[in-house]
Amino acid sequence: MDACPHDAIVHAPIRFREAAGTPTIDPSNSPCRMCTDAPCIPVCPEGVLLHDRGMKMGEARINILNCLAHQGTFCSTCVEQCPVDGAMRLEDGKPIINSTACTGCGVCQYMCPAPVNPLMILARQT
Ligand code: SF4
Ligand code: SF4
Repeated sequence: MDACPHDAIVHAPIRFREAAGTPTIDPSNSPCRMCTDAPCIPVCPEGVLLHDRGMKMGEARINILNCLAHQGTFCSTCVEQCPVDGAMRLEDGKPIINSTACTGCGVCQYMCPAPVNPLMILARQT
């Protein structure tokens, strides 16, 4: 939490029950900005954060019912703001996620201007 220059890592809130207080990222408040030097990794004393596994925290999904572009209004904010090469693209004016390249950083969710946010970040399972 101290090493992250974007205050992306916070204490999990009480609704996380037994995991409350543990470090987590809430992309709707402050996503991971995918720092190239990842200062959060070397300061982890337990070796939980590792450089050699790639920065894959999860992946984003879009609920097309709430996405402006999928519902006929021009919008490409998530694709423009995504910091990961190849993770998002526009197809027929609609955002498409490459789940292999997506790291789950949450920048798309944070930047999306839709009144009901269509972006969910699913945690990495393995
Ligand atoms: S890589 Fe993400 S979590 Fe780590 S320091 Fe940078 S913004 Fe914070
Ligand atoms: S920023 Fe949000 S509303 Fe706009 S295209 Fe992306 S998911 Fe849809």
